[in-house]
Amino acid sequence: MEGEAAGSSMPANKKAASKPLRIALGVFVTSTVALGTALFLVSQGHIKLQPKQQYCLTSECIEAAAAIKSKLNTSVDPCDNFFRFACEGWIQNNPIPEDSSSYGIYPWLRHNVDLKLKALLEKPLSKRRDSEAVQKAKTLYNSCMNENKIEKADAKPLLSMLKHSPFRWPVLESNIGPEGLWSERKFSMVQTLAALRSQYSSSVFIRMYVSSDDKMSNEHIIKLDQASLSLSAQEDYLKNTTEAKAYRDALFQFMVDIAVLLGANASRAELDMKSVLKLEVKIAEIMIPPENRTSESMYNKMNISELTTMIPQFDWLAYIKKVIDTKLYPDLKDIDDSENIIVRVPQYFKDLFRILEGERKKTIANYLVWRMVYSRIFNLSRRFQYRWLDFSRVIQGTSSLQPQWDKCVNFVENALPYVTGRMFVDLHFQEDKREMMAELTEGIRWAFMDMLENENTWMDSETKSKAVEKAKAVLAKVGYPEFIMNDTYIAEGIKTLKFSETDYFGNVLQTRKHAAQSDFYWLRKEVPKTEWFTSPTTVNAFYSSSTNQIRFPAGELQKPFFWGTEYPRSLSYGAIGVIVGHEFTHGFDNNGRKYDKNGNLDPWWSLDSEEKFKEKTKCMINQYNNYYWKKAGLNVKGKRTLAENIADNGGLREAFRAYRKWIKEKRQGEEEALLPGIDFTPNQLFFLSYAHVRCNSFRPEAAREQIYTGAHSPPQFRVIGAMSNFEEFRKAFTCTENTTMNRDSMDSLTCALRQTLCRNKKMGMNFLKKV
Ligand SMILES: [Zn+2]
Repeated sequence: MEGEAAGSSMPANKKAASKPLRIALGVFVTSTVALGTALFLVSQGHIKLQPKQQYCLTSECIEAAAAIKSKLNTSVDPCDNFFRFACEGWIQNNPIPEDSSSYGIYPWLRHNVDLKLKALLEKPLSKRRDSEAVQKAKTLYNSCMNENKIEKADAKPLLSMLKHSPFRWPVLESNIGPEGLWSERKFSMVQTLAALRSQYSSSVFIRMYVSSDDKMSNEHIIKLDQASLSLSAQEDYLKNTTEAKAYRDALFQFMVDIAVLLGANASRAELDMKSVLKLEVKIAEIMIPPENRTSESMYNKMNISELTTMIPQFDWLAYIKKVIDTKLYPDLKDIDDSENIIVRVPQYFKDLFRILEGERKKTIANYLVWRMVYSRIFNLSRRFQYRWLDFSRVIQGTSSLQPQWDKCVNFVENALPYVTGRMFVDLHFQEDKREMMAELTEGIRWAFMDMLENENTWMDSETKSKAVEKAKAVLAKVGYPEFIMNDTYIAEGIKTLKFSETDYFGNVLQTRKHAAQSDFYWLRKEVPKTEWFTSPTTVNAFYSSSTNQIRFPAGELQKPFFWGTEYPRSLSYGAIGVIVGHEFTHGFDNNGRKYDKNGNLDPWWSLDSEEKFKEKTKCMINQYNNYYWKKAGLNVKGKRTLAENIADNGGLREAFRAYRKWIKEKRQGEEEALLPGIDFTPNQLFFLSYAHVRCNSFRPEAAREQIYTGAHSPPQFRVIGAMSNFEEFRKAFTCTENTTMNRDSMDSLTCALRQTLCRNKKMGMNFLKKV
């Protein structure tokens, strides 16, 4: 980076006259005395020498300075609310789009990637230049953009599904023709559930999938879990708040109207959908909430025969065999009762089939087909989507539909992630980004181990050395999986897909089938521990506990997350650096810590260290529980968001430490040049850069959803929570005691005291009565 000293650009006047000379001499003498005195004071330690302030005036630095300045609200005191200080300018200038329920830097970058994909997909198809896979992606996109055709088709493609088993919909009676009439005698729940999963990748009641065995992470195994509901938050079925009731009412009316649009009589639809909603409420009641879904409690390995003994009301073997298409995977024909599976929620399944036993078959059928219909509404003509929009107004607060091109880009991206990924990285990923990612990863790894060795006083040495081993084994995956560069391999993976420009609905069904069957490919195959299967265009980062990998797809490695080497490093360390630290720390959060360096669920902590870890997490749970979010009318759920909060707090500290080490080693301790027009030190820029990737605003509906279903704390508390805990932050912004952004004294003290009290109570020493 080029830096130059500000204020040193005045040319010296060469025509010095005698008077100015005398003045200059006088100044010289005076300043020599002053300098002598100053040097004395410095040597005595009374004055600290400020190194000459360097400004970076390259176009990149000017660009970065403007980007930072435009996001701020400088009328807010950074020590009072750093999120508002850092983000309010951006939030005010970037209102939530009508078709979104929230908006922020992540969605902004997401949109930016969508625009790039749009440009790529809209380039005319060329049989000569485009690979076979790219041709398929363009055909799929064009079929989705063919709105005239979609309008003309209207409900027909869906109605033809509803005329045949297993998707005849009781509520429609014989209104769509005698062949659509549902019959109780012919209804098979196993058949319908299996078809939903096997043909359309829809999980209702049961979520069946293949992934690695937690305790033998080299092997793949079938897992069974609970599935989602029509509304995203379980609480909205259980609570009697005004909002929850309004959501249920809106859902009910939506189901009724859709049934009517497809041909049902209104009164019949109301009656039937009332029972459907009642059934869904019962299912919500038995679902295991996220905070009780721990890795150990969900590891229930058994064979199908044992599951059948435990829950005999359902033909598990028949279901599993029907879900897997053995025409695609002939070697899976041998699945029988002895097949091992992991039942993640045994109690849920017991309760589920108890409920279903007492339920009318007609209601079950009405519900299952409703779920199929619901997932296909977006593939029908506008009148169906506008009806959905009315529903969305209530549950998401949106008031317009997503533009068709955006919907189509997302559709193609989800259906063909590696094809669109390849198109994206060919044009928009610079390979030299890997170098800085390696620097950041190694910096974070060092910082994590350094903190462990030098600052962690509570972990015993044996557990520590296991933690170091695990930290050393963390594998970073950057950009995209290598296999996307192999055209033959990619074409082979999608060879069964044959799209038509004029049959959008048919194309959608093909992509659903493809997605539904793709994970069974892995059953009986070893887990490729160093490979990754993340869509390159994803604007997010990940940690995988079963492979001990941290993953950074190309979509995430862009500004304002990843800044190139031409920009101050403080910006990259503060943004993507903290994210590297965040993902790294997931390997040691309340869940990740249970997995060893090889990705196996196998306790490696001493009981004493584990106990101390749990005590420490109580303070953090408490801290976040106390954050009240006015927009949602709710408090943050400290226990549910614990893993993410640990990762945020750890990531921030690790990245800052790594940054300071970089300054020390790569710049011999010399601070980076400042940015023009904004008065922030490099350390301050680091913290601003972190806060900026979290800038986000929410409609009240989205805020509620974030609290109820989000694994993360809301963005403002991700900023305030982690920063107010960090002494380097308050040093950088000189936040004195008693400011919100300085939690040092009172809050952590009371928490620590409370922990002592709890410990003493447990030990029978109840001498501290009140704190
Ligand atoms: Zn995370």
